[in-house]
Amino acid sequence: MLYTSTRDKSVRVSSSQAIAQGISADGGLFVPESIPEIDKDFINSLVGLDYISRAKKVLSLYLTDFTEEEIDFCVSGAYAEGKFSSEKVSPIKKIADGGNVLELWRGPTCAFKDMALQLLPYLLTVAAKKTVADKTIVILVATSGDTGKAALEGFKDVPGTKIMVFYPNDGVSPMQKLQMTTQEGSNVSVCAINGNFDDAQSGVKAIFTDKEVSAKLAENSMMFSSANSINWGRLVPQIVYYISAYADLIENGTIENGDEINVVVPTGNFGNILAAYYAKLMGIPVKKLICASNANNVLTDFLTSGTYDKNRKFFATTSPSMDILISSNLERLLFHLSGEDDKKISNWMKLLSTEGVYSVDSDVKEKILSLFDAGCCNDAMTAETIGKTYKEGYLCDTHTAVAIKVFEEYVARTGDKTETVIASTANPYKFSAAVLKAVGDEIPEGADEFEQVELLIRATGVECPAQLANLSDKKVRFNDVCNKEDMIEMVYAMLGIK
Ligand SMILES: *Cc1c(COP(=O)(O)O)cnc(C)c1O
Repeated sequence: MLYTSTRDKSVRVSSSQAIAQGISADGGLFVPESIPEIDKDFINSLVGLDYISRAKKVLSLYLTDFTEEEIDFCVSGAYAEGKFSSEKVSPIKKIADGGNVLELWRGPTCAFKDMALQLLPYLLTVAAKKTVADKTIVILVATSGDTGKAALEGFKDVPGTKIMVFYPNDGVSPMQKLQMTTQEGSNVSVCAINGNFDDAQSGVKAIFTDKEVSAKLAENSMMFSSANSINWGRLVPQIVYYISAYADLIENGTIENGDEINVVVPTGNFGNILAAYYAKLMGIPVKKLICASNANNVLTDFLTSGTYDKNRKFFATTSPSMDILISSNLERLLFHLSGEDDKKISNWMKLLSTEGVYSVDSDVKEKILSLFDAGCCNDAMTAETIGKTYKEGYLCDTHTAVAIKVFEEYVARTGDKTETVIASTANPYKFSAAVLKAVGDEIPEGADEFEQVELLIRATGVECPAQLANLSDKKVRFNDVCNKEDMIEMVYAMLGIK
């Protein structure tokens, strides 16, 4: 299977090249040229298998230039026993009629990003050996909070790689910030920027596509790659868990093979929900893909109107990993829905960067309306949902609460009783302050992050993962803050070039 660029269909590369490069030279994203199909028998064959075996079967459909041994090495390393706090890796919990929460945050950094970022360093180093041997891979990451830590943890001390993370200084939770600034490892670096996530993301994209910068890296036997969900190697592991969840719902008797399900995803950069779309294209019977947003509801508007307009107020919310106005992965969806019209995609993306707004044609809009539903939820409704869901027996984080609220509204509006997978994307202790308030506890004045964690444990009896609780004992290693224009200088400084 080959991969092409959303902005230039003449591009044809192997999966290794797509993963090693991260983004196409024309600024487009790599997408598979065709979608592998799975049938009922394939799905049946997954029932009863463990996550590693399922992942091997699904990934081998996409990574056709990896040998069986290589896929085995990658997957067995990424999801090895003990790395995830559930032997299912991503277990399902029934929380309501038709509501099945898929816990994607059981990995080392307690956010769903681990599902892909535990695997990506393996995929990337194997891919690099095939395509760009002897070069140091420099991973640049823009993060709204969770990707940064998950990428640092995945790439720390991986030979042949260096990683630098940029995060918005005032845009992440205290726990998220500490997770990153205390990161250990000899090949890692972390820097805050004065700006929001979109500034960090566009800064990183500009560095990636700057020919002068690339030339300078090449002189030093280095090359950039991306650990953001623009990298195909981030997306493909996410397809696995939707297929695996479907098999689990069969296994636990919730559905029969062939039954339709809905999927609700708390969405920011559109990577997670796009993976569910790919699972549907492959043959998982998904009736509706339901996109849940917080107050930054640019996607709710787009998916219901066909006009993407980022010219709006930006809100810093209690679900910061979704505080995004430019959802990069939408580009991949539009490429598929437009009949792979690279010219059209280039044009829409150009309009997005120059005007901040574009409208898709009626044909694409119709397809979007039939595939997707969308809703949004502000901080007050998020808190109310955490409180209500907790009373009913499940403690969730702010992002998951956004999804649960949008799910409830969808059911009330449509009467649709289809069994639904609700993607749960973070452990509640990553956002203790908001969760503690939501379950009804006053926070004493001046209580720090770890006192709040203690209070939340006392209030709910729910365990806090050790890797979060132990952060209070760790030394802060990274204090740098820079302006967007100076990101490149920080990169050069970290790499010791120039
Ligand atoms: C990244 C993230 C999201 C958004 O996922 P996308 O793939 O960017 O849409 C939602 N919730 C949490 C906790 C996240 O870390």
